[in-house]
Amino acid sequence: MQFESLNIIEPILRSLKEEGYTIPTPIQVQAIPIVLKGIDLIGCAQTGTGKTAAFAVPILQHLSINKSFDKKRKIRSLIVTPTRELAIQIEESFKAYGRYTGLTCTVVFGGVNQNPQTNALRGGVDILVATPGRLLDLMNQGFISLKEVEIFVLDEADRMLDMGFIHDVRKIISALPKKRQSLFFSATMPPEIVKLAGSIVYKPVKVEVTPSASTVDIVNQFVYFIDKGNKNSLLLEILKDEKIKTALVFTRTKFGADKVVKVLKNKNISAEAIHGNKAQNARQRALSGFKAQTTRVLVATDIAARGIDVDDLEYVINYEIPNISETYVHRIGRTGRAGANGTAISFCDAEEKAYLKDIEKLITKKIQVIDDHPFPLIDNNPVKPVKQQRGNHNRPRLNTPKSKSSGNRSWKR
Ligand code: AMP
Repeated sequence: MQFESLNIIEPILRSLKEEGYTIPTPIQVQAIPIVLKGIDLIGCAQTGTGKTAAFAVPILQHLSINKSFDKKRKIRSLIVTPTRELAIQIEESFKAYGRYTGLTCTVVFGGVNQNPQTNALRGGVDILVATPGRLLDLMNQGFISLKEVEIFVLDEADRMLDMGFIHDVRKIISALPKKRQSLFFSATMPPEIVKLAGSIVYKPVKVEVTPSASTVDIVNQFVYFIDKGNKNSLLLEILKDEKIKTALVFTRTKFGADKVVKVLKNKNISAEAIHGNKAQNARQRALSGFKAQTTRVLVATDIAARGIDVDDLEYVINYEIPNISETYVHRIGRTGRAGANGTAISFCDAEEKAYLKDIEKLITKKIQVIDDHPFPLIDNNPVKPVKQQRGNHNRPRLNTPKSKSSGNRSWKR
């Protein structure tokens, strides 16, 4: 199927073409017609599935067809999302897809000076993307009114709950007009989320894509069993492969992320950390450098990495195995996006074996073990990190796992 078959208006089709999108993703095929009809939606999908365009395209279309005759632009669509990075990316997507519609979009999020945001709001905007805290703050200060919102999107609802935003979300919802269209997206649908959805949407249609399965199938996954103390050495060894242009490395803690960056920088590998202790500007700088490939390695914690969308990112490295299995799926979903290649490499020490087992249970497949490496796990009950043996001239050469398929950014049918 092509985008043309979804009855999308020409100015939006043109920009989608310029973005290089030809075939809509499964969530787009399902969601766009429903949203265009003005029906409420519950979308069970995570980032990486093309979810943003699935709501942004029909919102832009609705707002451009049903023009407002108010002299000053009012916020007619509100998108609330849990993290700043995601908010920025959504705004960028609206701007890209809507570049020929004449509609305006802005983004507000915390951790930075509010003045540029309030200046943008003063001029009037059609579409507002926001994280919950800053949105409420600006509402309380009188900079934002939600009275004219026609379409409301709650994005990544399960993450909102995890991050403790649920009260804020309820307050925001109570400020919205009763008569509106609501789109509710969540990667998972535990009972609290179903309940929350029930309080937001009216007679919704539910659409579901199974990103866990598709991510898990698309991304080539490998695990190295290794002693904790050798993980830096293995990381450096893997990064000797020049074919790895960029890699996103996940650590469990902010401190851990900073430590890995230090080790890499010491070896002249350009690296930046992205985590909650970094100022927003530093986080954005790190992300832009990584996207531009001037920074080769971005070391991230899970919160900061949520929703990071880097085109053609091929390698994700789990320096530490996450203790929550779903987090693994989210992490590896940073690669293999939109049909591109993906490789996920995990370093698993003795203590993390139980986490790995849980992950394999969730994804219902065994992750391929790479035995052929210089730092094999020696001690299954680690007391001290084991040093690499000296003088081991027969040391096996490290074969960095490669993606199997060839690059192709279009969605395969
Ligand atoms: P999202 O799930 O919205 O974060 O999108 C994931 C990635 O897929 C982003 O890099 C989008 O630019 C890309 N994308 C979204 N829709 C399409 C499409 N129909 N064809 C190709 N790429 C797409």
